[in-house]
Amino acid sequence: MTNFDGVVIGAGHNGLTLAAYLARAGLRIAVLERNHRIGGGCSTDSDQLPGFRLNLHANFYMGMSHCPLIEDLELYRYGFSYIEPPVQQAAAFRDGTCVVIHKDLDKTCASLARFSQQDAATFRELWNTYCVEMRPLLASLLYNAPLPREQLLDRLSGPKAKELLSHAQHDLFSVVRKHFVDERIRTLFTSYMHVITTENVAGAGIVFPAIFANIASFTLPVGGAVSLVNALTRVVEAGGGEVITCADVKEIKVESGRATGVKLADGRFIAGAKFVASAIDFPATVDMAGAELFPEPVREKARSWHWGNHSLVTLHLALKNAPVYRASAFDPDMARAYNVFFGMDNIDEVASCFDDCAAKKFPKVLMGNGACNSQFDPTYAPPGQHSAFWWPFAPYSVDGGPREWDSNRKDYSQRILDYWRIYASNLEGDNLLGTYLFTPLDVERLNSNMRQGAVRMGAYVPNQLGINRPHPLLPGSRTPVEGLYLCGSSSGNGGGVNGAPGYIAANAICDDLALKRSWTPLPPPEWKH
Ligand SMILES: Cc1cc2nc3c(=O)[nH]c(=O)nc-3n(C[C@H](O)[C@H](O)[C@H](O)COP(=O)(O)OP(=O)(O)OC[C@H]3O[C@@H](n4cnc5c(N)ncnc54)[C@H](O)[C@@H]3O)c2cc1C
Repeated sequence: MTNFDGVVIGAGHNGLTLAAYLARAGLRIAVLERNHRIGGGCSTDSDQLPGFRLNLHANFYMGMSHCPLIEDLELYRYGFSYIEPPVQQAAAFRDGTCVVIHKDLDKTCASLARFSQQDAATFRELWNTYCVEMRPLLASLLYNAPLPREQLLDRLSGPKAKELLSHAQHDLFSVVRKHFVDERIRTLFTSYMHVITTENVAGAGIVFPAIFANIASFTLPVGGAVSLVNALTRVVEAGGGEVITCADVKEIKVESGRATGVKLADGRFIAGAKFVASAIDFPATVDMAGAELFPEPVREKARSWHWGNHSLVTLHLALKNAPVYRASAFDPDMARAYNVFFGMDNIDEVASCFDDCAAKKFPKVLMGNGACNSQFDPTYAPPGQHSAFWWPFAPYSVDGGPREWDSNRKDYSQRILDYWRIYASNLEGDNLLGTYLFTPLDVERLNSNMRQGAVRMGAYVPNQLGINRPHPLLPGSRTPVEGLYLCGSSSGNGGGVNGAPGYIAANAICDDLALKRSWTPLPPPEWKH
């Protein structure tokens, strides 16, 4: 069958989210994936360390309890579930101390108060504001098309909205300094801000409230990151659609100004009678449709798209026993923490890591986060064993070029492992069963739209955030080409596993085609007090 109501390019979670919603609205959709397996940034590998499940990209699914997909698409019924560990995050320091973030606010404040009473009080205030009071607003902002500044200011007023928007005056370091005083706590929050790989530039501080809102809602997908895209696929198929692998789209066919389907590398043409949606990166989409169909400012933006200064290099370990962190002696909850940060002891070290990445050097200070998933879901490792990973920040081009990742794989693995051992005492001898290094070059190889190892399909800089993602002339996922929509992470509200770009595009297509929805869209953002 090559005739569908709609064609979606890319079977990552955003393409599949769009397809699943529209399948629910009665359309027959084809989702085309160039790789032999689906998932994009939601992939789980079981081949590299046989018996161990490795989430090669996304591991921490954040804010799932505010994600409309779960209930709208009945994802539990289609096989997706997640675990939200009670001890959410911990940052370990070289002197053996640590800060621990719990789901329980009082326990978190007690941990912070060991370093600073003032920061504990500030955390409580921020929690009440962004994790409770303004949480529905933040979900509305994420799951609605970004608005131009004037319209946003019309909708958000009052002192709390003003405070929220004031974060745009800051870079990442100054936004953390604005809120916290203790050096360790500042160090934790600066690295936490980088969890979504925001660049440290003026204006990037605007992401603070949204990231803070998720500070205690990190979840682990049961059975592997891929379980989300598998569930979405089942929804698409239940609606009569198809998810087709090894389908490398080379061209978006535009006839009389309207997108009518796509051409594959093997010459096949797949027609989409009502729409074509692209879940791959914005510059590639412009090229596939024909740059001449877009106004010059959009073409220029596509040509100069910023992929980001830093990516992630992941060392996966197969272990007999879970890592034992030295800081567990300071706080036993360290041993139960899900998302674990280490590598940086102060803000200067955080800054030096990002400077080295920007200078395309393997960082002297390795810092980042990781987890031992099998501690929470035993299916991530063979019975009685464990899988753990740590992903320090790293540049795509390293020490002379991206190929250096291949030439020096063994050496880089060893350097990362040696660094990890400073914090964990048992990563050696009989306890260490195997290692696998997944580099920024591997990120790009596996996922052609994560160019230069781009974790978010395009850097988080003010010029690529909000209404600027990808460009104000392409509002709400629509393009100047009739019937052509954007639904990947370089559109909407960006990357991360939340399905927002797919959800926003699904609602835009429903509006344009006057389809009856089986769900109620999240209300537009509004705050008036
Ligand atoms: C190392 C790493 C760690 C990360 N960790 C997290 C995390 O913990 N939490 C989190 O929320 N996010 C994380 N992310 C980001 C997250 O993985 C992405 O933001 C998200 O998966 C993007 O989803 P998407 O559907 O927009 O795009 P993708 O997942 O990139 O999907 C696009 C799909 O399109 C396919 N494609 C490309 N070109 C073509 C073509 N020509 N024809 C057909 N198909 C094509 C690709 O193969 C891919 O499958 C991480 C990313 C990386 C790299």
